[in-house]
Amino acid sequence: MNQELRKIIELAKIDLEIDSFGPKEESLKSELNKLVEKSNGIKAKIEELEGEAKECKFKSNKHDAHLKELSSKLADISKKSSTLKTEREIKALQIEEEIAREQVAFANEEIARLDTVEHAKKDEAKKLEESLGEIAEQIKSFEVSLSGDLKILEESKKDVYSKKDKLVFEINPKVYSFYQKIKRWAGTSTVVPVVGKACSGCNIQITDNDYRKVIRSDEIMTCSNCGRILYLDETEIENG
Ligand SMILES: [Zn+2]
Repeated sequence: MNQELRKIIELAKIDLEIDSFGPKEESLKSELNKLVEKSNGIKAKIEELEGEAKECKFKSNKHDAHLKELSSKLADISKKSSTLKTEREIKALQIEEEIAREQVAFANEEIARLDTVEHAKKDEAKKLEESLGEIAEQIKSFEVSLSGDLKILEESKKDVYSKKDKLVFEINPKVYSFYQKIKRWAGTSTVVPVVGKACSGCNIQITDNDYRKVIRSDEIMTCSNCGRILYLDETEIENG
């Protein structure tokens, strides 16, 4: 095989590895990000529950203040009742008292109801607070293992880049810039194998003449349809 072609195939493999570092790093971090997101979601929910509990307390206090007003009103009514003479006045005061007592009953019911809701909200917040603690522990241990994984990734990155530097130095500059030009649009499929007598970049069949040249591989061949660099896949040799 043409030496430059061999190097270009090797270079394409290295570039593919380099391109995979970003996604690898992302996937390592994604588990941690998921946990952090979950933790933030729970924190927001706790805040919401605490706000709702506070709202219950506020409403309950308002009913409490109203109860005090009603109690002094009832005391006034009771004082007034001894001074009344006509039946009409007595009846009117009775109605007023009835209404005040109904309001007292309603306020008491509301205070009890709001108290139950407030406690339920606080209990739920407390439970979430506990699960938040567990997640914080998980995050901590994840961060430890992640920093180890990232270190390993960083090491292999260094290795691959130095391998690339060495290889690029050995490649004919003209061939290298030719490769770079194609890579700009073809990306990871700059150098592709011929599979079933077709370019595996664009899937178009190559001519018999081109196929023979690819088999001989004594020069760098490009697909006459898409322009990608072609090489013969080893399994293709066995099949052909
Ligand atoms: Zn092609």
